[in-house]
Parts: sequence; C-alpha cells; structure tokens
Amino acid sequence: MPELPEVETTRRGLAPHLEGRRVAGVVLRRPDLRWPIPPEVARHLPGQRIDAVRRRAKYLLLDTAAGSALLHLGMSGSLRVLPGRLAPGTHDHVDIRIAGRGGKVLRFNDPRRFGCLLWQAPGDVHPLLRGLGPEPLSDDFDGDYLHTRSRGRNAPVKSFLMDQRIVVGVGNIYAAEALFAAGISPLRAAGRVSRERYRGLADAVKAILAAAIRRGGTTLRDFTAPDGAPGYFEQELAVYGRGGLPCPACGRPLRQASIGQRASAWCAHCQR
Ligand code: ZN
Repeated sequence: MPELPEVETTRRGLAPHLEGRRVAGVVLRRPDLRWPIPPEVARHLPGQRIDAVRRRAKYLLLDTAAGSALLHLGMSGSLRVLPGRLAPGTHDHVDIRIAGRGGKVLRFNDPRRFGCLLWQAPGDVHPLLRGLGPEPLSDDFDGDYLHTRSRGRNAPVKSFLMDQRIVVGVGNIYAAEALFAAGISPLRAAGRVSRERYRGLADAVKAILAAAIRRGGTTLRDFTAPDGAPGYFEQELAVYGRGGLPCPACGRPLRQASIGQRASAWCAHCQR
C-alpha cells in the first residue's frame, strides 16, 4: 500500500510533467473507483491549467483556477504520464489528457479500486481533508506539539501517533519504526510520555519519513515508464514484521501483539 513517502515521491515525479500544463480532456472508463467520480471532474477540469501538484496527507491535489482534482492511490493505485496513443490496460480507469506536443496523458491505474478521484471547489476544503493533523515533515509537528496534544490521554502512544487528527501519514510501519528509534514502548499511555521523549519521537518520525522519500527519489521511480512497477519501496525495517526475531540493538527476541487492532512488534528491553 502506498504510504506517505510513496505519495510524496509520486508528487515529485509528476509535478514537472503537469505543472503549468493545460488539461485537454478527461476520459473516465468507469463511473466510480472507491466512490463515484463526481461530474465536476469532467465538467470543470478540461481547459484548465494545472497550477500546482500538491500533497496533503496521502492525497494528491491537482490545483486549477476552477478547483482541484483530489486523488488517492488507495491500496494499489499508481499514476503515470504516458503517450496518449498507448492503449489503456484493464485497470487504467482514468486518463487526464495534457494539452500540447506529444499528446501525453496522466493515467490512473488501480486494480483493487480502493483509490479515488474527487473534486474540491476553489476556496473549499474537501470533507476528507478537514480536521487532519499537521504534516509530519512540517515545522508544526514537533515534540512540544505531541506533548501538548497527548496530555490526559490513556490510549497507547502507538495508536496516538497513528491518529490522523494528531498527525497525518504516520502509518503502522512508520509508527513501529519511529517508536523503536526513540526507545518508547508502543504500549505506553500517550499521556505518560515526557516532553523530552516526544522530541526524540518527533525527530525519529521526520528522519524515517525523509529517508524513505530520499530512497524513493533515488530508486527507479520512472513515472513515464508504461511497464514500470508501481514502485512502492522496500524498507529497511528494525522491528516491523519482525516479531520473535532478534532485536537489532540488543539481540533479545522482539515482542509481537496487536495494538489498536494493528500488528505491532517492539523490544521490551530497548523500548520503555
Ligand atoms: Zn532490544
């Protein structure tokens, strides 16, 4: 499943092909993905110039003066810029045709159709984007912020960190890895982690996400290759998915349990 680093890498890969270009047309090969594709997409997008390709949480926004196309890759989605003459495959559900030489299209492929294509009116914030916490790589997210938001909360710190209202885009893998790097037990009550330790945790979240984005930028990541793999990254993981295996720091077997209904692994010796 594409996580925040994959979505950010996708954004960086697509932006040079799309920003400043006009939309020549929209081809919808089915009426819905996870949700119906609203009529505004085909009605408003053609003729518009794409001013920016933005990311918010795991959503991508194509901003135009008429509004923004809002895309989510779901479980299996991918986006590519391809020659429009290239015949669409089975799961190529949407083409956004780009005006100009070469007749390129932005093609949305999604075998499992958990992705979406929605519309955000100018000056509006789509309901899916309302109430979200800050971006983890922004200056609004730091240890002081986590400390303030966590006071009085009894939920496990791992569940707290994965709450999109607290901070966006810290999925199960990144939460597990950041808690290990910060030496904090995922089971500890969020309200009982000190400010100092939250500073370490916020730094770990930023470092791990930034490293994944850097790695994404250096591996294949060809957004114009028709036969390229979706390009979700392999991670170097210290604890995630390694329950029962030796802790990379102390060698003791890692614990494994479900926390907030999400598989979790941690070292009971290194993480307190
Ligand atoms: Zn350990």
